[in-house]
Amino acid sequence: MSIKDALQLMKDEEVEYVDIRFTDPRGKLQHVTLVADLVDEEFFDEGFMFDGSSIAGWKSIDQSDMKLILDPDSVYIDPFYAEKTMCVHCTVAEPDTNEPYSRDPRGTAIKAEAYLKSSGIGDTFYCGPEAEFFIFDDVRYSVKMNKVSFEVDAVDGAWNTDTQYEMGNMGHRPGIKGGYFPVNPVDPAQDLRGEMLSTMKRMGMKVDKHHHEVASNQHELGLIFGPLTKQADELQKYKYVIHNVAHAYGKSVTFMPKPMKGDNGTGMHVNMSIWKDGKPLFAGDKYADLSQEALWFIGGILIHAKALNAITNPSTNSYKRLIPGFEAPVLRAYSARNRSGCVRIPWTESPKAKRVEARFPDPSANPYLCFAALLMAGLDGIKNKIDPGPASDKDLYDLPPEELAEIPTVCGSLREALDELEKDHEFLLAGDVFTKDQLDGYMALKWEEVYAYEHTPHPIEYMMYY
Ligand code: GLN
Ligand code: MG
Ligand code: MG
Ligand code: MG
Repeated sequence: MSIKDALQLMKDEEVEYVDIRFTDPRGKLQHVTLVADLVDEEFFDEGFMFDGSSIAGWKSIDQSDMKLILDPDSVYIDPFYAEKTMCVHCTVAEPDTNEPYSRDPRGTAIKAEAYLKSSGIGDTFYCGPEAEFFIFDDVRYSVKMNKVSFEVDAVDGAWNTDTQYEMGNMGHRPGIKGGYFPVNPVDPAQDLRGEMLSTMKRMGMKVDKHHHEVASNQHELGLIFGPLTKQADELQKYKYVIHNVAHAYGKSVTFMPKPMKGDNGTGMHVNMSIWKDGKPLFAGDKYADLSQEALWFIGGILIHAKALNAITNPSTNSYKRLIPGFEAPVLRAYSARNRSGCVRIPWTESPKAKRVEARFPDPSANPYLCFAALLMAGLDGIKNKIDPGPASDKDLYDLPPEELAEIPTVCGSLREALDELEKDHEFLLAGDVFTKDQLDGYMALKWEEVYAYEHTPHPIEYMMYY
């Protein structure tokens, strides 16, 4: 959509307000609302000044002025506000030079797409994220001193390993790992998910399905793939709609990776493919009908996986998901068949649908940085012809312990991931897509989270050591 089209939409829809939105380094959508009269062609050209020092991880107070540049191609009508409001996603620029601000995640995503084009390897990077989530009534986190347990009320009462025998008859509730796919009443959220998906559809988003996921009260909606920056915008809208529909019904949604001990965690598989001149670069005649480029791409993802973890799995909670036994990957291996490795090649007969699925990311990631970092790792694999080694087609957890110990793993903590990113980040800096200054700022924010977590006594420690 051009600026002209966006202004026309404002007229046609009798828009009262324009909500300009951007994403901070932690991946949270931020907004400021302007009276529509202010927004004309000139406004689109000039942008909107704001205080960048108030956003965690951005500017210091003495150089706080920053500019939001509106992307007319990202406009949509907000489905929740009472007053008619048009939303626009923005990138962040330096006020004096209009240069993109290097710590702006959306700017990084745009640079990653430009870098792909300039590399000559391809012109489009498609991403299909599958962000799962839990729906709860209201998160009550209660810690009992003598009998430590986490109690989280789910839609109509969930259970976990600590509380299942205390909660009476669970006949109409999905048990642990029992959510994939019983009909209602065991699936308690059909209408809620339906309203979420229909809302997205009315906003012009491309969606295809919704379902209960494996864990009790865990869900997933199907977002159709799209090019990197656009798809990260769509994922921000996906989370926005899901949070707000749930909120309207007195529920809360969390995308945190492991809210329930003893049940599946929340992943965000990212399906990826590169296209060049309208042709899929990943289809070929090698393993699982992949091309040589696709195999090198996988090689890049696997070799940089531990550094990637700091961006694709950026919460202390992420590493409670990346453990064996819950359909989340631990081993840095790839396969067309089994789901226990970091990378899977989903089965398809169509060369156009040929794609590589990274299974380790989770939805606590900033989508702009997550997709950009995956692309940069994959491109590094292609440029340096990184061989991913042979595929692992057995269930990796059935291997004898000695063989299992040979396979490299993902990180075990956010601390480890930040150390790995410190050691291995040159692949992100290629073409100035990410910058050192940006990574330093990002890592400082994430170290704050590591310290907050490590310095706080954990409830389980009372049980073990009190
Ligand atoms: N929830 C699983 C994860 O943590 C994925 C389950 C699935 O989609 N098959 O990645
Ligand atoms: Mg899925
Ligand atoms: Mg899923
Ligand atoms: Mg998947």
